[in-house]
Order: sequence, then C-alpha cells, then structure tokens
Amino acid sequence: MLYSRVIPERCIACGLCQLKAPTLFDYDADGVAFFKPDQNQGQVPIDNPRDQIAFKSAYTACPTGAIVRQSTPFSS
Ligand code: SF4
Repeated sequence: MLYSRVIPERCIACGLCQLKAPTLFDYDADGVAFFKPDQNQGQVPIDNPRDQIAFKSAYTACPTGAIVRQSTPFSS
C-alpha cells in the first residue's frame, strides 16, 4: 500500500501537487499543501490506480521534497 502526507515546513506553496493530483492534494488558507483524503494524517492508502499515477506525477514534481511517501501508515 502507498501512504502519503505533506511536510508543511518544506512546502513553498507552489501549487504543482494540486495541479498534478487534485483529488489528493489541497491547500490551507496560507497556500500550504496537505494530503486531502485524510487531512494530512497519512493514514488512508492511495489504492486507486488512477490516483497512484497522479500521485507519482505530483511526488516527482514537488520541488522541495515536501511530499513524503511510505508503504505503511504514518504515525501521527
Ligand atoms: S508541490 Fe510541493 S512545494 Fe509545491 S505546493 Fe505541493 S507540497 Fe508544496
């Protein structure tokens, strides 16, 4: 399984992840991105193949490495 979240301290609010994967990433009032399916908790897997493709695109596009991924849920 694939899990993700955004490290807000690394996000420069460039907008690329939301452009590449609008179902997976959104922004708070300051423009800082978060993982949309579970409010950036990293607990909900990306299990839809279409979302997995979009995720890869967003992950590779992020200029600061703010999007992190792992195969198990993130501990909060
Ligand atoms: S692509 Fe990266 S730096 Fe840009 S808004 Fe998304 S998480 Fe932030």
